[in-house]
Amino acid sequence: MQAPSSEKRPGKQLALGLATLAAWLTLACDRPSESVVVAPGSATPDIILIVIDAARVDRFGAYGYPKSTTPNIDTFAEDAVLYRGVRSSAPWTLPAHASILTGMRSGDHGLHFAPSREVRAKVNALRDSARDRLLASLLSKRGYATLGISNNRWVSKATGLDFGFDNFFLIPSKPEARRRAAAKWLGRPATASTAAELSVELFEMQLEKATPQRPTFTFFNLIEPHFPYLPVDRFAGQLGGDRAALEELIRTHRFLELSMLGGGVQPESPMLSALYDEELLQVDDAVGKILNALRKRDLYDDALIVITSDHGEHLGEDGRYSHQLSMRPELLDVPLIIKYPGGANAGSAVDLPLASTADIHQTLLASTWRENPHAGNWSQDLAKPDAFGREWNLAEYYYSPWYLLQIKQVAPNFDNAAHERVRRLVFTASGSHALDGREDSPLLGTLPSPIREEVQQYLAGLIKTEAPSPVILDEEDLDALRELGYVR
Ligand SMILES: [Zn+2]
Repeated sequence: MQAPSSEKRPGKQLALGLATLAAWLTLACDRPSESVVVAPGSATPDIILIVIDAARVDRFGAYGYPKSTTPNIDTFAEDAVLYRGVRSSAPWTLPAHASILTGMRSGDHGLHFAPSREVRAKVNALRDSARDRLLASLLSKRGYATLGISNNRWVSKATGLDFGFDNFFLIPSKPEARRRAAAKWLGRPATASTAAELSVELFEMQLEKATPQRPTFTFFNLIEPHFPYLPVDRFAGQLGGDRAALEELIRTHRFLELSMLGGGVQPESPMLSALYDEELLQVDDAVGKILNALRKRDLYDDALIVITSDHGEHLGEDGRYSHQLSMRPELLDVPLIIKYPGGANAGSAVDLPLASTADIHQTLLASTWRENPHAGNWSQDLAKPDAFGREWNLAEYYYSPWYLLQIKQVAPNFDNAAHERVRRLVFTASGSHALDGREDSPLLGTLPSPIREEVQQYLAGLIKTEAPSPVILDEEDLDALRELGYVR
């Protein structure tokens, strides 16, 4: 992955090293005098959480990418704190979002692939304990008006991630269905042509209705960088992309994404890469409009605004595509940019190599509670980087035999049996350690003590916990997942 440029932020380098005292003392010298980014939560700031689906950290200008993919987000980063080293808890949408929204690891929240060959039972349900921790639910109890806008069906009522929102809009991916839904929601035809633009329109509608006395929490899933990379006319060709080339591939391969995952089709990486960049440019435009909607109403300065992604994307590295079946940095390394109320520590960067997107949960809650009743779990408050105490981080991938068979049916040479294993990567100060799914994995021996014992305890806890019941998907869900390339 491309190293971010530190020259962009002269004199403001907040570097928190690995969670050892020695590293802490060494690096603390570089920090500004503030040891706390935000005063202990005494306010109820408006909170905006923007998750850009499948957005790789190394494609953001703010993280050093040389092409102009994210001009609006780069400008926003000057008002915000930029976190480096943050990883997603999982390499795909469902468990990754569940971790952001519950602050829990994949194994703990349970919302991931089910070990089932049954098409309608392809994912497990969110555990009750995780449901109780959903951000919208907790912030509602705190008095927030809550709005969810999702462009991805994995983040919707179908999987229970809409729970706790006062209003939740799942934007259809097909243009005709989207137009119909927009007319119903807005009470007039939408001016938006893309899902992201409709997301902005819905947000503006809610802002118009908002009561000034009541703080708001808005969650977005914006899906542009997700496959297929087909930017609309306004952005197509802006960064050298050839949309017609991908459209031709889609025409000639009915289940292109599954085929790419199974090695059946290997499109040229530069072709995909340029189109992917244009999708980022397209989503950046929508993010700019969300931020401008806040600025226009004088809500921007005092708001807490988070921009991140659920996971990255493979664009042909070593024949890898999309975002499954891999635990590489292209999928697990994600951007995280947080603008705190009043612009605290604006323009600084923090290195936290053991941070997780699950930490967004605690960071948001800590901003609103002086005595936060939800502290003390896996998720930690990133507004106080010098108190960050995690010694190890974890990413997990629970496989689906059903999904692997889908791939094999499209790409007959795909070795589905080789992928029938839970993958775990444990990150420590000394690097990453791959484990298999067993509690007594001999690979645990590669971990230093006491991390080894803590990981063992985590695994033992998972095995003792009753497996969550599967989610049964209906025809409409399956149809939508077909659009996303998950179902044949
Ligand atoms: Zn995703």
